[in-house]
Amino acid sequence: MSSNQTRQSAISAVTNYTPPATPLNFAEQKPTDLFGCNVFNDVVMQERLPKDVYKSLKKTIDEGQKVDPSIADTVANAMKEWALEKGATHYTHVFYPLTGLTAEKHDGFLTPDGKGSAIAEFEGKLLIQGEPDASSFPNGGLRTTFEARGYTAWDVTSPAYILENPNGTFLCIPTAFISWTGEALDKKTPLLRSNQVVNVQAQRILKIFGDDSGNRVVSNAGPEQEYFLIDRNFYFARPDLQLAGRTLFGSKPAKGQELDDHYFGAIPRRVLSFMMDAENELYKLGVPVKTRHNEVAPGQFELAPLYEHANLATDHNQMIMTTLKSTAKKHGMACLLHEKPFAGINGSGKHLNFSLGCAGHGSLFDPGKNPHKNAQFLIFCAAIIRSVHLHSKLLRAVVASVSNDHRLGANEAPPAIMSIFMGSHLTEIFQKIKEGNSPTPTSSGFLKVGVDTLPPLPRDAGDRNRTSPFAFTGNRFEFRAVGSNASIAGPQVAINTMLAESLDFIATELESVTKGDQSKLNEAVQKVIKDIMDKHDSILFDGDGYSDEWHKEATEERGLPNLPTSAEAIPALTDPAVIELFTKYNVFSKEELESREEIYLEQYNQAVVTEAALVVKLAKTLIFPSGVRYQKELADTCASMKAIGVPFTTDVLEDVTENLRKMQAAIVALEKVMEENTAEDQGKEATYLCYTALPAMLEVRKYADYLEDVVADDLWTLPSYSEMLFIK
Ligand code: ADP
Ligand code: MG
Repeated sequence: MSSNQTRQSAISAVTNYTPPATPLNFAEQKPTDLFGCNVFNDVVMQERLPKDVYKSLKKTIDEGQKVDPSIADTVANAMKEWALEKGATHYTHVFYPLTGLTAEKHDGFLTPDGKGSAIAEFEGKLLIQGEPDASSFPNGGLRTTFEARGYTAWDVTSPAYILENPNGTFLCIPTAFISWTGEALDKKTPLLRSNQVVNVQAQRILKIFGDDSGNRVVSNAGPEQEYFLIDRNFYFARPDLQLAGRTLFGSKPAKGQELDDHYFGAIPRRVLSFMMDAENELYKLGVPVKTRHNEVAPGQFELAPLYEHANLATDHNQMIMTTLKSTAKKHGMACLLHEKPFAGINGSGKHLNFSLGCAGHGSLFDPGKNPHKNAQFLIFCAAIIRSVHLHSKLLRAVVASVSNDHRLGANEAPPAIMSIFMGSHLTEIFQKIKEGNSPTPTSSGFLKVGVDTLPPLPRDAGDRNRTSPFAFTGNRFEFRAVGSNASIAGPQVAINTMLAESLDFIATELESVTKGDQSKLNEAVQKVIKDIMDKHDSILFDGDGYSDEWHKEATEERGLPNLPTSAEAIPALTDPAVIELFTKYNVFSKEELESREEIYLEQYNQAVVTEAALVVKLAKTLIFPSGVRYQKELADTCASMKAIGVPFTTDVLEDVTENLRKMQAAIVALEKVMEENTAEDQGKEATYLCYTALPAMLEVRKYADYLEDVVADDLWTLPSYSEMLFIK
């Protein structure tokens, strides 16, 4: 099909768009009734479970206590009855393997009763534990294939839910995926471990500040999800989008995002219709979607839920991604979650809003109103400063992927160098505390924590710095380097654990100074913060993170690590400091970290190999043919003109010919590069692919994109950027 035909189909899809046959009607179907209607939530459990069983389960959910196996049968039965009423025929243990995707294997409730009929059965042991034949999920050497059995374990803290399909429904039970020897094969297990770890250390701090209620400290997450929407006709005409998730060719449109007229603009009709539909589905699943708007790039949008407990927010984010994709199909569009589907146009991220929360305190990153609360707040911020400085390579590693590389460090996304934006007011306070004990006081004088001289702290960071990868935003931190396509589990595991380590360090310091004497607390706080600032304040940066000056200053003067590509960043997962951090708190064993490094490098390599093969194939079978057809037309015209003696320039013909020739040479060079990809381990292969294959691919693209701007539009077969971005 020519691009023209695809364009016609897409235009007709837009112009003839009719809303769904049975439109949503939120006046009749109240969103308040809809919300959570497919979730085995607290209300349902309270209604359907005996009091003692409910209580026991609640304890596990709220306080993180172990599940009492003796209640499993009762819960399973109640869950089954509820699911059957909702039309479910099957159940599945949902889990999150290291592919970053959501995995499920369905089993029917029906069991033959031996008399020719069947009964619906679901026992406690099936709820608590499952055994998917999951031998082909990546395990990075943790399970050898002959003992490939991992098992899934019910995660009580994330409620079961019903997923609807036009032809029926099924019960989904969120689970952790673990090998028989106890190693985490998934993204959820370490997240649950890290939640525990940060809770323990944060509580120690709260206790020092006088709260020994023992209330659990939870990490909260609010991930803002960015995505692109394009018409499905274009999607099917772009093998690169289908197979690699991004365009491997495409010249920049005449009009990009320069005018910023898309950001927060009116949402196109079909897109809004899609959004409402997606939200409707997510409401049913109890996902608290809140915000929707156009993003900066044409065709780019964002959806943000309200923040929730990290584990739930993570599961919900997976549901959001799945729902966006499936709902887009329904509306004749494709939802692109790749971090950089279009070169030269803004990429998509997933800003991860992160905080620690505790009953009676709210967010621990919320500066309180009184000086005492201020001191506690400053301590939690100091823990962030220390941990991000100590583990900035880890933070970079957990957002590494082949696709996010195209975004990080490009001019619209946070740079690959980690730094913290605190806002001028808070930075000044930390600076003053730092100087407070120094022999040469500044003109602004000393600043003491916990006493009246401390000015009221800003609730809002004021000038929001969009160029910072890790920014304080008033009552939370926003980690902006996470990719749109990635699970948010990895980044949270890292943040929880490194924060726990710094809180542990600080608590120990404070305890050793005060020795239980509360009157010494302020002095101790002052000292700890000063020490942390002395060692770690080079991580604080409020300026323009995109500028060249910053890159120079960060790396040359401040010595901050800059790991521009995943080939360099992923191996940081097994740096001695990282192994020490995770093993100390039992969040990852050394083997688990090694397996992750191996798997993520392998994923990187596979992706580049696939992309390189696609570049060769598309260049040869789509782009080259378009070029030579045009070349022939030009040549024919030139020849005819010459024959009748009319002067006619051959400039265009020569230009096309020259670029076709160069593209051919670039294809041959890329093929050779791929033939020579024989590195003996994943790490070396990643480096080779990153620094040799990717540039060779770009070389082919250079000529192809040039040709796109020259060749007659009706001969060009790949849909163009302008078409994909603006027809919707
Ligand atoms: P913006 O685009 O201005 O950054 P959004 O409204 O798009 O803001 O997203 C902000 C996200 O931060 C939401 O998911 C919100 O629920 C979340 N959030 C707000 N407060 C907290 C908090 N204390 N802890 C974690 N996340 C929070
Ligand atoms: Mg936002």
